[in-house]
Amino acid sequence: SVKDRGRNDFCFYSPLMNPNSQEEIELRADLQDAIREDSLELHYQPKVNAKTGEIVGVEALIRWDHPQKGMLRPHQFIKMAEEQGLIVSLGEWVLKRATRDAKILCERWSRVSVSVNVSVRQLVEPDFYEYVRRALLISGLDPSLLVLEVTESIFAKEIAEIEMNVQKVKEMGVKLSLDDFGTGFSSLGNLTRFSPDEIKVDKSFVDQMMSGGKELELIRTMLSIGLTMRINVVIEGVETLEQRDYLFKRGANVFQGYFYSPPVPYKELLGLMSAGFAPAGSERIDPSLSL
Ligand code: C2E
Ligand code: MG
Ligand code: MG
Ligand code: MG
Repeated sequence: SVKDRGRNDFCFYSPLMNPNSQEEIELRADLQDAIREDSLELHYQPKVNAKTGEIVGVEALIRWDHPQKGMLRPHQFIKMAEEQGLIVSLGEWVLKRATRDAKILCERWSRVSVSVNVSVRQLVEPDFYEYVRRALLISGLDPSLLVLEVTESIFAKEIAEIEMNVQKVKEMGVKLSLDDFGTGFSSLGNLTRFSPDEIKVDKSFVDQMMSGGKELELIRTMLSIGLTMRINVVIEGVETLEQRDYLFKRGANVFQGYFYSPPVPYKELLGLMSAGFAPAGSERIDPSLSL
């Protein structure tokens, strides 16, 4: 069934596949309204260089303040949006908003990149790269400050549109990141095929690394792959000082996780940046580095 499918699987919209419940039909209509009425929100979570305490980038994470249901997290509606054919317009909204927000950040504070999650369902659209180009043009953001986060599910099938979109956005100077790395269809061959600029070590490895299994070794392997292939490695989901220090000693530099900051509304992010501090738990930012 649909529910049994793994987190990295994807499917194309088919009305036969998924008989809609009344609730789903309503949620779909509500989401359509929300996109049209601009009532979605992006929260931002910093990526922090542990050596300098500097915020080197932020990841845009969608939130939906539903009129009846309250604040919804992505797992409550992204899959529905993918299956119900709304992810493309949702994705366009996210790209536009994130590039606009990032441009303002860069003008006022420092060169920070903005990462946007992209569903494989968007990447199979032949004109995906045109939406990226348009968002960059409208916002005026330097293309090299936009990072598109894709999961390893893009490797599941060889689809010409995906290859084309990846190539086109890379030609524009946009960066590519492999999200949830190590949980899906990775192979080293795939790493050379799309040559990502960044890999994000999935939180599940960090959660397990102290429990005596193979996770720590796997993280070290991913760090050394990054070194060898000149790919930046970001450690996701770091929650404690112990985890941060443990991995820092083993060569990890860039972290994203509750230890530094949860995702915060844009206004709060502006506050963090203007105070000249990386979020709680990190060292002070040297102002000469951040300006
Ligand atoms: P992701 O891209 O892997 O994002 C990281 C998720 O881990 C976020 O959950 C973030 O809030 C959470 N996280 C970060 N640090 C920690 C930590 O230290 N501890 C814990 N427990 N969690 C942490 P969120 O915001 O609920 O997003 C979930 C997923 O939804 C994302 O995973 C991404 O795959 C998807 N998503 C979010 N925004 C978008 C979007 O605009 N478009 C698409 N297509 N997918 C999105
Ligand atoms: Mg992500
Ligand atoms: Mg992730
Ligand atoms: Mg994820």
